[in-house]
Amino acid sequence: MEKVLHIIGGGLAGSEAAWQAAQAGIQVVLHEMRPVRKTDAHVTDGLAELVCSNSFRSDDAETNAVGLLHAELRDSESLIMGCADAHQVPAGGALAVDREGFSEAVTGKIEVHPNITIERAEVTDIPADWQHVIIATGPLTSPALSELIGKMTGSDKLAFFDAIAPIIYRDSIDMDICWHQSRYDKSGELTGEGGTGKDYINCPMDEAQYHAFLDALIESDTADFKDWEENTPYFNGCLPIEVMAARGRDTLRHGPMKPRGLTNAHNPDVKAHAVVQLRQDNALGTLFNMVGFQTKLKYGAQTDVFRLIPGLEDARFARLGGLHRNTFLNSPSLLDGELRLKNAPHIRFAGQITGVEGYVESTTIGLMAGRFAAAQIQGSAVAHPPMTSAFGALLAHITVNADAKTFQPMNVNFGLMPELEPLPAPVGDDGKRLRGKLRMQAKKQARQRAFTARARADFSSWLQA
Ligand SMILES: Cc1cc2nc3c(=O)[nH]c(=O)nc-3n(C[C@H](O)[C@H](O)[C@H](O)COP(=O)(O)OP(=O)(O)OC[C@H]3O[C@@H](n4cnc5c(N)ncnc54)[C@H](O)[C@@H]3O)c2cc1C
Repeated sequence: MEKVLHIIGGGLAGSEAAWQAAQAGIQVVLHEMRPVRKTDAHVTDGLAELVCSNSFRSDDAETNAVGLLHAELRDSESLIMGCADAHQVPAGGALAVDREGFSEAVTGKIEVHPNITIERAEVTDIPADWQHVIIATGPLTSPALSELIGKMTGSDKLAFFDAIAPIIYRDSIDMDICWHQSRYDKSGELTGEGGTGKDYINCPMDEAQYHAFLDALIESDTADFKDWEENTPYFNGCLPIEVMAARGRDTLRHGPMKPRGLTNAHNPDVKAHAVVQLRQDNALGTLFNMVGFQTKLKYGAQTDVFRLIPGLEDARFARLGGLHRNTFLNSPSLLDGELRLKNAPHIRFAGQITGVEGYVESTTIGLMAGRFAAAQIQGSAVAHPPMTSAFGALLAHITVNADAKTFQPMNVNFGLMPELEPLPAPVGDDGKRLRGKLRMQAKKQARQRAFTARARADFSSWLQA
């Protein structure tokens, strides 16, 4: 049996996967198409090129899920984190890097590793004698390989654009204003929808609130498309909410915000003029997405405008909306818990193509794919990281927890982890209970610290095992 591991794509995920497997003693061939063939965003020949920002985001492992992921990557001897740390530039609490120094360092380490060979060519086919494969070709996977992946997975399971509606933490929604109800009855007779009859959270608006919201939405700044992304928008009838709003004062009220079939549980006699619906986004029930609210608004504008919605005044966003060129799989329906294609288990996927979003998230999935593949080739097994850790939460989200029907790329956040045991009420230095904003802030910080403390302990036990 062929024991060589072929990794396609020398970006963040592919380089990390190659490093992890090679360090475990596996012979790796890393196939990178640049410079033979370029992408629309990469500009160098280097491995692990950062295509846009030079930031790996927050490095705070105590109160931030991204910082926690950094810590877990460091604990796992990640090549990408090691090179990022070695090429850090000042950026406050964030980890930012000198992009050229960083990419050169990764390339140098991979080039001299005795177990890794780099092949500079576009992969358009997977030869039958490749018994162990990781595909880590990222958001800009070449068209020929995309076509092949589409054939392997079914074309409706491979997306070329993301259309992300904002996702909100359940515990930041004001349920004194909102209520649970599906638009149609429990049996789903009106639509055939089924469900419990209470699957959605509804945020009601009166007429004045609706018009104020529309004005804010229409006037807000939108993000620019890059030239090569010009064809991105409005894919599949997925219109951005602000574009719909600009088409007429009643378009949203007759579209995603229609109040029909909904009765405000807090005020049954008054019919809402419009309703924003939120749909559960993960099996844990900790995240809810804004139905039909895919958007190109700039991030600051999104938080300002969406907090005008009654019940969402204090909403915390696990991720904001966007519309990008992005090749990604419907992983929850296609991949098993070890990132293998269910119908071709000699092929794994890693990186952004699995439906995670961001440099560190892509690196993490690369690291796990490399370790899983190495273990399989060596005939051993790796236990899955605990779901309470950032590694485990990301892996579980893309393979089992996310809803395959609405799956869109996701970055790491505490909402992907199982809920905490209730925490004691926060008290001030004087030992007295805090009130108002101070109380909210202290509660939020205590939760963040509890998530990271639990993660650090569980991750450490897993690594030792
Ligand atoms: C325009 C743009 C801007 C972005 N900005 C940010 C940002 O600021 N911050 C952030 O965190 N994330 C950003 N992202 C997301 C970012 O791409 C990912 O976070 C990260 O680069 C994904 O890592 P990856 O290894 O999965 O893919 P990549 O880093 O893209 O690596 C994939 C590699 O596969 C190669 N490849 C593709 N097809 C083939 C083939 N057929 N054969 C051989 N090689 C192939 C490519 O040349 C590339 O080197 C951005 C994405 C895009 C498209």
